[in-house]
Amino acid sequence: MSKKIALVTGGAGFIGSHLCDRLIKEGFKVICLDNLITGSLKNIEHLLRDKNFIFIRHDITKFIQIKERLDYVLHFASIASPKDYLRLPIQTLKSGALGTHNCLGLAKAKKAKFMLASTSEVYGDPLVHPQKESYWGNVNPVGVRGCYDESKRFAEALVMAYHRVHNIDIRIARIFNTYGPRMRSDDGRVIPNFILQALNNNPLTVYGRGKHTRSFCYITDLIEGIFRLMFVKINEPINLGNPQEISILELARLIIKLTQAKSKIVFKPIPEDDPQRRQPDIIKAKRLLKWSVKVSLEEGLKETIHWFSLLKALS
Ligand code: UDP
Repeated sequence: MSKKIALVTGGAGFIGSHLCDRLIKEGFKVICLDNLITGSLKNIEHLLRDKNFIFIRHDITKFIQIKERLDYVLHFASIASPKDYLRLPIQTLKSGALGTHNCLGLAKAKKAKFMLASTSEVYGDPLVHPQKESYWGNVNPVGVRGCYDESKRFAEALVMAYHRVHNIDIRIARIFNTYGPRMRSDDGRVIPNFILQALNNNPLTVYGRGKHTRSFCYITDLIEGIFRLMFVKINEPINLGNPQEISILELARLIIKLTQAKSKIVFKPIPEDDPQRRQPDIIKAKRLLKWSVKVSLEEGLKETIHWFSLLKALS
């Protein structure tokens, strides 16, 4: 039997590259598309020699031409960290809007199943807690985070339109904060920032008073959820994340403890529109995917600290 073929956009990024690994391991042929704007060849260099892995450097906001048959189009290309999308708001909007349109057109032409990597940011600064898929969100469209939030909200609407009009078998994964090896050390997100600050015994920069919360999911748990979602026909959004909620100040203290750093904590101004609380309701994913998280925050952080220490030693 011939192998299933999956196209992964953003396949050289943090989540995309882990997804490529999993697909190769499961016997797929993988075509990885990435313009390397935030992704890196380092994340996939171990796959480049595999005959079932093809890398194409391409910007998905431009027409995508693929000769092969495709069974899946898994659309993970996006600028995703606040630091990056504040720097590159137009590219962020274009990949969510034009990029998603091209990927859907490709899925339609190939009669492929389609998955959108969406985000908890569609809930904005939520007024409902924890966030269920049925919550419509509280987003400032003209604020500095609007470029990311609205591009993903538009992408979700476009995916649903293609499903309704063209009957494409779609998935929408609303991914909550995810962390682990291969995050960029300079991507500005809280876990890489704190770990690197702690490993260098520098102060940990807590924005605001550190009362904001997030719920952090380890990458292996997320990939398991995404992989399961590919095979269950759920043509509507589904949350994927770890419901263990923690304040940013507690996170800073935990990272100092785990790294045995001598770092202090310093308080910096809170960024505009920074969501105050975030916690996924994953009842739907548990029920429909028979999925649950396996890796505790402490275990996942230890793995991630180990990975960043090796990276630091090599640099
Ligand atoms: N944050 C912080 N210090 C940092 C980086 C981030 O206190 O050095 C806070 C940020 O203000 C937010 C939370 O950590 O409340 C998570 O930020 P991140 O950029 O990781 O992702 P977000 O969940 O906001 O997309």
